[in-house]
Amino acid sequence: MGTFKAIRIDKAEKGTTAALTQFDEAELMEGDVTVRVEWSTLNYKDGLALTGKAPVVRRFPMIAGIDFAGTVEQSSHPQWKAGDKVVCNGWGMGETHLGAYAEKARVKGDWLVRLPDGMSSRDAMAIGTAGYTAMLSVLALEKHGLTPKSGPVVVTGAAGGVGSVAIAVLSRLGYQIIASTGRVSETDYLKSLGATEVIDRNELSGPAKPLAKERWAGGVDSVGSTTLANLLSMTKYGGAIAACGLAAGMDLPSSVAPFILRGVCLLGIDSVMCPIEQRKVAWGRLAKDLDRAKLAEITHEIGLADVVGEGAKILAGQVRGRIVVKIS
Ligand code: NDP
Repeated sequence: MGTFKAIRIDKAEKGTTAALTQFDEAELMEGDVTVRVEWSTLNYKDGLALTGKAPVVRRFPMIAGIDFAGTVEQSSHPQWKAGDKVVCNGWGMGETHLGAYAEKARVKGDWLVRLPDGMSSRDAMAIGTAGYTAMLSVLALEKHGLTPKSGPVVVTGAAGGVGSVAIAVLSRLGYQIIASTGRVSETDYLKSLGATEVIDRNELSGPAKPLAKERWAGGVDSVGSTTLANLLSMTKYGGAIAACGLAAGMDLPSSVAPFILRGVCLLGIDSVMCPIEQRKVAWGRLAKDLDRAKLAEITHEIGLADVVGEGAKILAGQVRGRIVVKIS
């Protein structure tokens, strides 16, 4: 048994500390598969864990990082053998189970998804939890019956990770997309991903009326709070909004009017405990419905040593698109 590089979070007198350090392999938690982690990524939740701004971490010491892609090194799980390429996200990694910013991870084989054919482990983490959550949102809208013929869709937090991937996927599927952003300077970027119209997020951040003019048939919301309330009040009869985030807050100051007068549906999206079969569908669809050239355009790469600093930036809304973290 040796040591490996990892971003370790410890409890401090006040709050927590996060630092790149050596971690003892003997301290890895229980699991039937050990993976050599090749790539990870930086999500909003990672920013919360790294800075200690929200109580994401519930065990100390913790290795931060909620998702990885890599190669199986050892397995006693019947489905996996050494050399298999896998993706893992959520399931409490980086929260209650030692996480992904590390050269090694030990997890349950039941948590793993096989890397789709033709997708590299770097691409999988360029997508990461944010991109996979965007796809879960699209799948929920499709299950509701939304099609490009239903009308335009709105994407909030558009220049962020979930938003950027949602736009790229919805555009590939033929939707007209209204992108809401606080960074209108990113209009060219958002249009290059496939947004048809870009609006200032201030239009959607004030108190919501119970019902307002119908503007879209569906939407993907990573912002929450009054923004989600406005989205609901502006959704066309019978439409739906997939709610997956809380970048502006966890509250929802809305009314029942959109639900009982327009039959609008609010679709909840959780990536962490999402059942494995749904994950396989989402990763399969990402392999098919996300333009890799666009994925490359929205991604930039950092090393393990840069993770702690970038964690603060993502919370400040200063990260555009997706960050992929090179581990080994
Ligand atoms: P990012 O930071 O990459 O994107 C969030 C975007 O939201 C920002 O880029 C910004 O977009 C917008 N934003 C930030 N602050 C505010 C604000 N105060 N008011 C309005 N808009 C704001 O994060 P991710 O894309 O990784 O995650 C987005 C959200 O989704 C987070 O809340 C995250 O916790 C949640 N999430 C939930 C998951 C689940 O399982 N349900 C899984 C993954 C993420 P712009 O500059 O364009 O306005």
